[in-house]
Amino acid sequence: MVDLHWADAIAEEVCELRGGDSHVVASGITPSGEIHIGNMREVVTADAVYRALDERGVDVRLIYVADNFDPLRTVYPFLPETYEKEVGKPLFRIPCPCGGHENYAEHFLEPFLESLELLEIDAEVLRADDLYNSGRYRGAIKVALEKRDSIARILEEISHRSLPNGWSPFNPLCPLCERIVGTEVVGFNAREESVEIRCRCGFQGIASIVGGGKLTWRVDWPARWKILGVTVEPFGKDHATRGGSYDTGKRIAEEVYQYEAPYPIVYEWIMLKGKGAMHSSKGVAISINEMLEVVPPEVLRYLIIRSKPEKHIEFDPGVPLLNLIDEYDRRVNPRAHQLSQTRRGEETSIPFRHLVTAVQVARDADALLGILKRSGYEISDLRSVLARAENARRWVERYAPPTLRFRVHERLPQATKSFDSKDRAMFDVLAEKISEWKTPQEIHDGIYSIAKEANVEPKEFFQKIYITLLSTKSGPRLGYFLSSLDNDFLVTRFKEAARE
Ligand SMILES: [Zn+2]
Ligand SMILES: [Zn+2]
Repeated sequence: MVDLHWADAIAEEVCELRGGDSHVVASGITPSGEIHIGNMREVVTADAVYRALDERGVDVRLIYVADNFDPLRTVYPFLPETYEKEVGKPLFRIPCPCGGHENYAEHFLEPFLESLELLEIDAEVLRADDLYNSGRYRGAIKVALEKRDSIARILEEISHRSLPNGWSPFNPLCPLCERIVGTEVVGFNAREESVEIRCRCGFQGIASIVGGGKLTWRVDWPARWKILGVTVEPFGKDHATRGGSYDTGKRIAEEVYQYEAPYPIVYEWIMLKGKGAMHSSKGVAISINEMLEVVPPEVLRYLIIRSKPEKHIEFDPGVPLLNLIDEYDRRVNPRAHQLSQTRRGEETSIPFRHLVTAVQVARDADALLGILKRSGYEISDLRSVLARAENARRWVERYAPPTLRFRVHERLPQATKSFDSKDRAMFDVLAEKISEWKTPQEIHDGIYSIAKEANVEPKEFFQKIYITLLSTKSGPRLGYFLSSLDNDFLVTRFKEAARE
């Protein structure tokens, strides 16, 4: 029996536990830095479950919440020192680093939303400032302020930490210094829907609970579940620790908001090979857009969808990425392949590995198409063939190890001077026969039998063929490599090698 894919298993369980009529799958992020491959796990995991529920006929929504009301915690290494004065302000009220976006949060959110489009994740994007300023949190904030003591008790009991005197579930925004850190609530007027606040900067006054601040994270989360009707939510293991924000959120949701906490999907980190978990603040990260220049979006989805959420993913953009693309193309895991597909991802039958060779042989697009045609590949879908070739070209430039990079020499390399008469005789036969062989396999087999007939180790003859072209003893898989090269060129080159 085939194992159910994790997304289907979760969809099934969610429907069993909470009914199969309608669901809301939520995910989100605090856009405080570049949103990278590591962050992508959350939204792709949510999308896989969303698709699985949708296929079961469930009326399902996928939402993505940008926590742009969160404060800037520190001046990250990628920020200029002038951001010192912005620390403690909400991200939506801080200027964007490049000057081209509405605010700091949008600067990081916008490229991410573009990549969501490429990944064909149709999430409804909600921004925390809109939710707060439009009053959607009004009721939840009122309840939180009224039930401050029970919330404080839950937090202390579950998280085993003691809260300071005067703790409030509401973090007011100081109208004077614009900070949300260093402010406190000293009074609450339920009828007026306002709080009395005091700020470290010296400000004292009244703020509305609508737009005048936000709930602290541990209360914001369960409040949001109820406001948005969230029933399923993936989150990183940092929120899933014993006494962590899911544990406290669950209790607060049940006891304060009378709402059942969403079905939790805890996911592990994506590690960057040799560098550990990705953090944009530490510079250990590859942005999603950077990766989408190298791999097709469906393969990036597949990277995440093929692994169970609780397993960590080791991401290596070098040769393992080639293997991943191969695995996707060969449909090794059919259900993961299906959940990863994009409508736009026209599939070409050309293995990426072969494109990696072809783009290094071809000087331009015409030459490339000529090579692919000669090798017998279908190139009628020009747009997607060229897009994939462009991916391959960038991959070679940025991530290919030296063994996969090569340059065909324009003249016969000097190293062929060491060939003996037996070698030259083999090249003579090769020059004669190479035009007869059509496929990479035929080329490979033909070369093999020439060596055998001459009583030479095939491996040695292979090495010498590489020398005549690359001046090195190894190179890309020989059959395909030779089929990528122009036939007349090969005949001339092998004749030269036979002659000297
Ligand atoms: Zn910007
Ligand atoms: Zn202030």
